Amino acid sequence: MPDMRRMVRVALDVPLRHGFDYLVPDGMGVPVIGSRVRVPFGRRNAVGVVIARPKTSEVPEARLKPVRELLDSQAAIGPEVMKLCRFAAQYYHHPLGEVLSTAMPLKLRQGAAPDALVRSWHLTREGAEQDLDALKRRAPRQAELIRLLLATGEVSEPLPARLKRLVPTLEKRAWLLCEQRVVTPVPPAQAASPGPELSREQATAVRTITSALGRFAGFLLRGVTGSGKTEVYLQSARACLAAGRRVLILVPEISLTPQLVERVRTRLGARVALSHSGLTDSERLAHWRSAKDGAADVVLGTRSAVFAPVPDLGLIIVDEEHDASFKQQDGFRYSARDMALVRARDEAVPIVLGSATPSFEALHQVEESRLDALRLPRRVGVAKPPSARLVDLRQGRLEAGVTTILLDRMRSHLIAGGQVLLFINRRGFAPCLLCESCGWRAECSRCDAALTLHRSAGRMHCHHCDHRASIPLQCPECDAHTLAAVGQGTQRIEETLTRRLPGVAIARLDRDSTRSRGSLERTLDSARRGETKVLIGTQMLAKGHHLPGVTLAAVLDADQGLFGLDFRAQERLAQIITQVAGRSGRGEQAGEVIVQTRFPDHPTLRRLITEGYDAVAADLMEVRRSDGWPPFERLVLFRAEASDAKDALAVLRLARAELESAGIEILGPAPAPMARRAGRHRAQLLLIGSRGRLQTLLRSRLEAVLSLPAAQRARLSIDVDPIELF
Ligand SMILES: [Zn+2]
Ligand SMILES: [Zn+2]
Repeated sequence: MPDMRRMVRVALDVPLRHGFDYLVPDGMGVPVIGSRVRVPFGRRNAVGVVIARPKTSEVPEARLKPVRELLDSQAAIGPEVMKLCRFAAQYYHHPLGEVLSTAMPLKLRQGAAPDALVRSWHLTREGAEQDLDALKRRAPRQAELIRLLLATGEVSEPLPARLKRLVPTLEKRAWLLCEQRVVTPVPPAQAASPGPELSREQATAVRTITSALGRFAGFLLRGVTGSGKTEVYLQSARACLAAGRRVLILVPEISLTPQLVERVRTRLGARVALSHSGLTDSERLAHWRSAKDGAADVVLGTRSAVFAPVPDLGLIIVDEEHDASFKQQDGFRYSARDMALVRARDEAVPIVLGSATPSFEALHQVEESRLDALRLPRRVGVAKPPSARLVDLRQGRLEAGVTTILLDRMRSHLIAGGQVLLFINRRGFAPCLLCESCGWRAECSRCDAALTLHRSAGRMHCHHCDHRASIPLQCPECDAHTLAAVGQGTQRIEETLTRRLPGVAIARLDRDSTRSRGSLERTLDSARRGETKVLIGTQMLAKGHHLPGVTLAAVLDADQGLFGLDFRAQERLAQIITQVAGRSGRGEQAGEVIVQTRFPDHPTLRRLITEGYDAVAADLMEVRRSDGWPPFERLVLFRAEASDAKDALAVLRLARAELESAGIEILGPAPAPMARRAGRHRAQLLLIGSRGRLQTLLRSRLEAVLSLPAAQRARLSIDVDPIELF
């Protein structure tokens, strides 16, 4: 019997649900679980993560290929993150290899070293005493390197290739000495600066959170906007750092501003590693390394930071936990908020979910005593809650969606020295181009959606597939010159207000105006300094920016959210109106809030204006409970995409037959609300049931569904706990 060959099972970044077995060649070190290896895969080499060391393989040994290279002597993915990734792969029914690649910066996936060591070289005495002229005749490059070192003292990586080749030779001659140093992009810690004195409620919240350090406990920090949630995070984090543990802070993409980073750094006196999409690949790797080797005390990032390495984790904070950006909407569709809860439980640390407008999931978790509610019911300092009212869009002359009432109020606030913030859900100039003679509408040729008119760019643009088209001069249907821009977009409102409010500085905050790096910051800075008087924006405006000069905040059109197809539409609307309202009156001036609607008698809006978010949430939760929607029941959404509409529906019909099961309601298959997108036909199948039942069903039947022959002709994907039903 020959020696048992050593084997490893490797997860690769491919959409396949199993690991791949490889032989470990003799003489190679022992790959530990979580270390990266370079392995042959198809015709290429791939970097994967070792997930097991099996004794046997289903593949005959003769067909197993050897590992090419062992990239890590220690685990790149430590046991805590590995455990979280395994859980996520199981819960979301997503290939582990793709989950693990979410946990690693791109450069690490490409094989970069996991530690932050940089090598540098200096001359030994012997090297420094070489006769350079003689050496130059014999070996000019060597002489060049020594001359360089005599001038600079040392050189460090990366060296130009022609010099790098010489290093081993000169090291062997003992002319060069190598030194390894840890480098980190994380600025050194400063002395922590003291914060403001806490209110009674803030102090109670901090005490409750810090008394849970060292064990699992979940908190929902419910604070109206302006009530000082951040101060509670900071003081709790400080206590955690003082206990020698580290802190992980997750925030929505858009609220991760340099101001916030600076505040965390200076207030905590902490070294902060970042993780967000604004970093370059090299920066991401460098920050990841600083987190991994413990050079950072705080890891601060957006969604994928939930998978960041944080040794001696002591506290997790999720700010604006209701924010939809915590859920990834394509590929590996995970919820960072939910995974943060799992991680806190696994690592036995407290977690704080904060929001002025908690998700219904969080409210339900409080009802079930899985989270403890901490309340901050008052604004801090002198700020008073703003007064709010509904304005009927059907009355009063409208221009670019701004009623005369609103325009009047804007003028008085501006005259009084206040700033105005206008919220609209759409970017672009106008949602669509319509023929007033025949009713023709400019539509995307590849989606079931209207093209958005971007007048300043001189084109029309599909916001769903990125298709661009030129603006027609006349109607392509009836040839009439009666094309009109219908509806409002941020650009059109900006244009109208510039005309109506001459001399007033107006700025726009949307995805178009903030595309270039730093432009969001510049716009917000100018607003903070009080230079910009009117700020028009999309969702970006509603997030936690502190603009103390704003005294009037308006939602230009609330109606989209009232009758949205999605069962979450009203929850979202209530959140956004409350968040926008929260931007008003945060300084010493009292704030005013105006919500424009064609339905001023709508019960949700009335209740929101008179009683606030909590009352509306309680109402809407009752509807969800009686209708059997989340958070009381859970959802799993199967999506199918195909070039032929029949194929997309056919595979879901077969899937439905496979998935029929007691206690689970199945809706569909049906065409998706947007049945065609980017030229692909889309259909969906919705499963409703308890979390346990759905998971049991998927564990036993998903394999069969995915291996349906019809699945070859359609791209099938699965979304556990979807937050968008299209
Ligand atoms: Zn026409
Ligand atoms: Zn399109």
